[in-house]
Amino acid sequence: MSAPLRGAPETILIVGASLAGLAAAHALRAQGYAGALTLVGDEPHLPYDRPPLSKQVLRGQFCDDTTLPRHPDLRAAFRLGTPAQSLDLDARAVTLADGARLRYDRLLIATGTRARPWPNPDEAGLADVFTLRSRDDAARLSARLRAGPRRVILVGGGFIGFEVASTCRDLDIPVTVLVREGAPLSAALGPRLGGWVGGIAREQGVDLRLGAEIERMEAPGGRLAAVLLKDGARIEADVLVAAIGTVRNVAWLDGAGLAADDGGVTCDGYGRVLRANGDIVAEVFAAGDVARWPNPHQDERLVAVEHWGNAQAQARTAARNMLAGPAAGLIRHDHLPDFWSQQFGRTIKLVGLADGADSLAIVHGSLAEGRFVALYGREGRTVAAASVDSARWLPAYAAAIRERAPFPPFEGAVDQPRIRIEEP
Ligand SMILES: Cc1cc2nc3c(=O)[nH]c(=O)nc-3n(C[C@H](O)[C@H](O)[C@H](O)COP(=O)(O)OP(=O)(O)OC[C@H]3O[C@@H](n4cnc5c(N)ncnc54)[C@H](O)[C@@H]3O)c2cc1C
Repeated sequence: MSAPLRGAPETILIVGASLAGLAAAHALRAQGYAGALTLVGDEPHLPYDRPPLSKQVLRGQFCDDTTLPRHPDLRAAFRLGTPAQSLDLDARAVTLADGARLRYDRLLIATGTRARPWPNPDEAGLADVFTLRSRDDAARLSARLRAGPRRVILVGGGFIGFEVASTCRDLDIPVTVLVREGAPLSAALGPRLGGWVGGIAREQGVDLRLGAEIERMEAPGGRLAAVLLKDGARIEADVLVAAIGTVRNVAWLDGAGLAADDGGVTCDGYGRVLRANGDIVAEVFAAGDVARWPNPHQDERLVAVEHWGNAQAQARTAARNMLAGPAAGLIRHDHLPDFWSQQFGRTIKLVGLADGADSLAIVHGSLAEGRFVALYGREGRTVAAASVDSARWLPAYAAAIRERAPFPPFEGAVDQPRIRIEEP
């Protein structure tokens, strides 16, 4: 473990100028930090919000400027369009791609994730093959959708893919969604509710193919014409969006000696990063999509949570702990994960993590009505709750999840006097 920190920090550096980075900067100033504050970002933009990119921005409902609000007295220097290239823990310095070397007393790693690229580089390089992570990605895809493609192929059964598919239907564009698993959204919601969302997508005209994988793309003259599936099917389309997950932005940390890999940067429960040998680096913190930490809501398993709410909460905790002197004590990051998605005219909300759930109960409403709350249990405890257009019940269940209440925590809701427990 490194030596205990002495003295208040005078220079704080944040690498990753996005949601978590900006939230930390605001929290530092709110707690009275008056020293130098610099945010380094590889994108040329000031911090902006990503959730609208797959929703309102693609539909053309917002202007495409989703810049996050900044406090007028933030007093932060932004080094934008310049990636951090390496970290020297002993010298407490970060080197940028332009050669600048920035010293720090405290460092926050908030470099998030990027879209996982399509695995075949030739196909990934086609002008008609898109991913969606950044504002620039959204601008390019939005322009292409507005040009009226014949058919869009969406690869991937996650939330972003389904939101884009929903937007395509709103724009009256034919869309095929290819999901490798037996149900969409199954990682987050389990097969039962994922299958229900798949049914809604089909009702709204999505050509949903399950257990489907692409063998290759046909692109005569460099323009996408069709995809061939492994089962021999051929689908004509002129746009393909690969929504096949994310990759954590940790390459710049290679050689720094941290416990960082594809699964993220490992930190302790207080947000302090660990060296590869497990020692704590007391002056370096991580927050947001790039961070994984022992999660009290998942039996202290190392978990990375790629959600908007977590990025903000974790950044605030890290900021608080960056400034805490040894006497003030550190606070744990115990935010209960929460997430929302808007698709096919519905709002889905999730609190907790349904991953590993062994039981499910619909506790309000019903799948047939299209409005419900579903609870997830694991080993007799309530671990997550999902709502579709019924979010007003969620806070009560969030409290039950926090308390590790038995599953199900309550019996006898007005609209659900007898709860049936089934497989998730
Ligand atoms: C299209 C889309 C829709 C989403 N919808 C939802 C939703 O509905 N609900 C929800 O809860 N969450 C949603 N999310 C997830 C949410 O946006 C993320 O959880 C959040 O952006 C994480 O913030 P972050 O600051 O940790 O990381 P990021 O937002 O990924 O920011 C990291 C920043 O660091 C930069 N960076 C990377 N490497 C370097 C480097 N070496 N040097 C300098 N800078 C670097 C990156 O370019 C980026 O600007 C969505 C995400 C996307 C992409």
